[in-house]
Amino acid sequence: MKTTPTRPERFLDYDKSLACIHCGLCLSSCPTYLETGNENDSPRGRIYLMRAVQDGRLPLAGVAVKHFDLCLGCRACEAVCPSGVQYGELLEHTRDHVEKNFARSWFQTFLRRVAIEQIFPFPWRMKLALLPARLLKKLRADKLLPALARDALNLIPADASAAKLPEISPATAQAKRGRVGFIEGCVMQVMFGKTNKASVALLNRAGFDVLTPTEQGCCGALYAHSGRLEQARECARQNIAAFERLELDGIVINAAGCGSTLKEYGALLRDDPEWAGRGKNFSRRVKDLTEWLAAAGSVYGNDAEAETKFATKVTYHDACHLAHPQRITRQPRELLRVIVGENLVELPESDVCCGSAGSYNLTEPEMAARLQRRKTENILRIGAKVVVTTNPGCILQIRAGLQRAGHADVEVLHLADFLERQGRGASKVAEAE
Ligand code: SF4
Ligand code: SF4
Repeated sequence: MKTTPTRPERFLDYDKSLACIHCGLCLSSCPTYLETGNENDSPRGRIYLMRAVQDGRLPLAGVAVKHFDLCLGCRACEAVCPSGVQYGELLEHTRDHVEKNFARSWFQTFLRRVAIEQIFPFPWRMKLALLPARLLKKLRADKLLPALARDALNLIPADASAAKLPEISPATAQAKRGRVGFIEGCVMQVMFGKTNKASVALLNRAGFDVLTPTEQGCCGALYAHSGRLEQARECARQNIAAFERLELDGIVINAAGCGSTLKEYGALLRDDPEWAGRGKNFSRRVKDLTEWLAAAGSVYGNDAEAETKFATKVTYHDACHLAHPQRITRQPRELLRVIVGENLVELPESDVCCGSAGSYNLTEPEMAARLQRRKTENILRIGAKVVVTTNPGCILQIRAGLQRAGHADVEVLHLADFLERQGRGASKVAEAE
């Protein structure tokens, strides 16, 4: 017997979905459409599916959910849309509806609700979870695992460094220029402690005191991107409260994915009268590290120090959440050019997602691997020996891709590490030449 889907409760901002005029200009920017060529895997197609589910013309079943799940949330479509469609917001609300109303397989439920949501936002749990993973790798027992688990394990960096930053790191430049707050991030403080330290050192050298309040927590990006909006709002409230008592010139973040969520607290808390204004104020003060350093006009306080001769080809991968929602593409390149000059080579499809996309490479490993391969091939094609980017997920994903392709010699690192290392005149790459 044929069943007619019933109209679900309102989850979609219908007017915002109608802003899509079906022009198709976003299709060539959408990584999943580039890979599958399927209209349902394009922004335009997904918006159509969202409306069909909202209207009750399409049941919330496996087919529709698969196309929503396959979306990376990279928001490349938003950056090129002439009609100003707020795709990210439409997606987050659709995902919220999916998570509340769709029964996933036990494996996906465990992966999302336990392995990802109960570990990643809690640094101490992540540290504990990394112990057996590292042991398995050390004993080379990872080869006995199924491919999916092995791939996940390969993402863990060999040089992972955990570090808790001091609450106050004073400026080291002679001329003091102000005070900024710093967001430590969950993955950043457990796996990229060195990068956090490098970021703070760069800010100190540029003349800024850096305050890292201990009351801060997860930015909520992981929850927001996977359709757990209430949990994301809780994270936002905690961070707003932690930073609003401090007198600061800005709040700096060095992870693109977190930065884009931090800049959208105002929108996230729009319907909460107590927190909406506070969220907006907080977001207004958030800046990406590259944005802050470029605006400060100096990487090292004295850029003459940075004029290291750099004879190696370096390329820059645009992390989706820096390039698309935050529209920051110029500043990281400007900072790199100070050191690398003409050896900064543009990466073809630099702003096409590498497949990391938060926890996407765990929940959608097949498409993540396709995009990882695409990114790796582009890097190898231009012969870059160093790949610089600004998001932990991208670093892990691209490193693993190059390793898999037999090119572990190509270095992949965060812009802060690259700048700090060159600033100290300690380039591993330069030494090797
Ligand atoms: S570019 Fe914007 S308006 Fe055009 S199809 Fe894509 S989402 Fe719709
Ligand atoms: S967010 Fe990225 S993957 Fe999703 S529809 Fe837009 S461009 Fe495609």
